[in-house]
Amino acid sequence: MFCQEQKVAESLTTPSIHSLEKFKSALKRRIQLRVPKDVELIDRLNIYVTGGDIHECLWHWSCYSHFSYNSRIERLEQKGSNVKKAFNT
Ligand SMILES: [Zn+2]
Repeated sequence: MFCQEQKVAESLTTPSIHSLEKFKSALKRRIQLRVPKDVELIDRLNIYVTGGDIHECLWHWSCYSHFSYNSRIERLEQKGSNVKKAFNT
C-alpha cells in the first residue's frame, strides 16, 4: 500500500502503467531536489519503486496528481538552482 493517509472522501485506486511511469520520473526529479519536508516521503516512495512493490500499490488520485504535478516540480527545481547561484557568488 502506497498512501498512508486516511481519506474518507476518496477511495484508493490501482495506478495505470502510464501514471506509474509518470510518477517514477516525478520521483526521480524530486529525489534530486531533496526538499527537506518531502525527504521522508520520497525515501519511502523510492523504496516502493526500487523494491518492485509498486505494481501492487494503491493510491489516491489526488495524492498522485499532487506529487507528480509538473509545474510544481519545475518551480522547485528553479528555486533550487537559484539557491545554488546564491551560494556561488
Ligand atoms: Zn493518499
